[in-house]
Amino acid sequence: MEMLSEHINYILQELPPHVTLVAVTKTRPVELLEEAYRMGLRDFGENRVQEMTEKQPLLPGDVRWHQIGHLQTNKVKYIAPFVHLIHSVDSLKLLAEINRQGEKAGRVIDCLLQVFIAKEESKFGLDEEEVKAILNNDEFPAMKNVRIRGLMGMATFTDDDNVVRNEFAALKTFFDHLSRTFFSGREEFDTLSMGMSGDYHIAIEEGSNMVRIGTALFGERDYH
Ligand SMILES: *Cc1c(COP(=O)(O)O)cnc(C)c1O
Repeated sequence: MEMLSEHINYILQELPPHVTLVAVTKTRPVELLEEAYRMGLRDFGENRVQEMTEKQPLLPGDVRWHQIGHLQTNKVKYIAPFVHLIHSVDSLKLLAEINRQGEKAGRVIDCLLQVFIAKEESKFGLDEEEVKAILNNDEFPAMKNVRIRGLMGMATFTDDDNVVRNEFAALKTFFDHLSRTFFSGREEFDTLSMGMSGDYHIAIEEGSNMVRIGTALFGERDYH
């Protein structure tokens, strides 16, 4: 556990104060989350609903749970009562279901729209036109139980820093554009979630204020 505290302290020290660290705890045992909690971490990211709902009751109530992986519409109900931020909203249908479950749970659920910025093939994420189409859809203003807090994006998995930098810069430009237009005067649109273990330095340089870090905190994941 000494290793763990070294990694956590190192990363916390180098992050600028305006950047939130989401510790990505997928595949990690509850004991590791408890250890991270004791070291002061409160924001935990999971990508599978079942894993999050299993861990949530075992951790203290002030943990902020982040859904970072693809979310199926039929699973929203399980996390709606407690989830802190959903990073992976990639359709109007999903947003409508989050709104419906938020209403049932008596909550306003914070969400990020996941934007597809990488060169690689990926099934998930919206392009800029699709984001605008959601925001301009007639159904959106009536969704009182969701709040769009910003955008999330994942860069191409590559050693070429320039490719990664350009993708993050493009997402920041789009974020700023939405801040000035659709979300003008609305302070809640304040979160740009980009950067993982391999690219968070570049992401922060390009304007990220929320990073999702697993491997650099906890070591390689074991999926077995
Ligand atoms: C797993 C995951 C991360 C963390 O990846 P690391 O490389 O371990 O830091 C970040 N974001 C998403 C969406 C993930 O699924």
